[in-house]
Amino acid sequence: MLMATGPTKPSTARVILFLGAPGSGKGTQSSWLSQQLGVSCLSTGEILRSEAKRNTPAGYRLRQVLCSGSLVSDEMVCAAVGARLRRDAAGVILDGFPRTLPQAVFLDDLLVERGWPRPTVIHLHVPRHELLRRMTLRRQCAVCGAIYNLVSRPSLRGSRCEKDGGALVQRDDDSEATALRRIGEFEALSAPLIEYYRGSDYRRVDGSRDPDLVAADLLEIVTREEVCAPAFA
Ligand code: AMP
Repeated sequence: MLMATGPTKPSTARVILFLGAPGSGKGTQSSWLSQQLGVSCLSTGEILRSEAKRNTPAGYRLRQVLCSGSLVSDEMVCAAVGARLRRDAAGVILDGFPRTLPQAVFLDDLLVERGWPRPTVIHLHVPRHELLRRMTLRRQCAVCGAIYNLVSRPSLRGSRCEKDGGALVQRDDDSEATALRRIGEFEALSAPLIEYYRGSDYRRVDGSRDPDLVAADLLEIVTREEVCAPAFA
């Protein structure tokens, strides 16, 4: 199991972003890395799910989009990320952003505005059949959002969260049909994004392995790069 070993503070502000299909382990690895580095983690999926709980017309529309497995508009996601990044002082780990080219361009502009270096891009690659297996077995705490898996990471408290006893539920967008659709959408949208980042600090990591092995690779990548995070030209 991934264990927190205490913050290893980076010397300068930095941005690490995770590219990965739904089910690739981005959520688990990014929040673990965030604890290790003492840098906050921003999950656009979490932000949007919490907005969608609002009892307003906008909350209702957002719920419809999330349940369908489609992407939320670039405009809405960029506004949420922009507001957060303009407040953060020590950098950020991004889970689920950018997902489209316009979002990547928006992020670069924001980093230049803040005087932050180029992001370290980590692409967690997992084959399709494994993604599908993970997503349909995934369960999430309805209270704190902690992620479990019925096979590889069951809760020690059965159908309750180990941290707060919240009920473990399947996300609406983890049903098999929706999962397949989301994976297809990721494959189509990630190709241009990977091209966009390939010339810079882009790392492809095999995310199908044991989470501890993946985590060890990530820590090595980010600590090695702490000294040499590239600046914008
Ligand atoms: P995730 O938790 O990252 O799997 O995201 C869950 C859902 O939130 C996605 O299926 C999208 O509907 C929405 N979402 C999250 N991040 C983005 C993004 N960067 N752009 C558009 N939609 C997003």
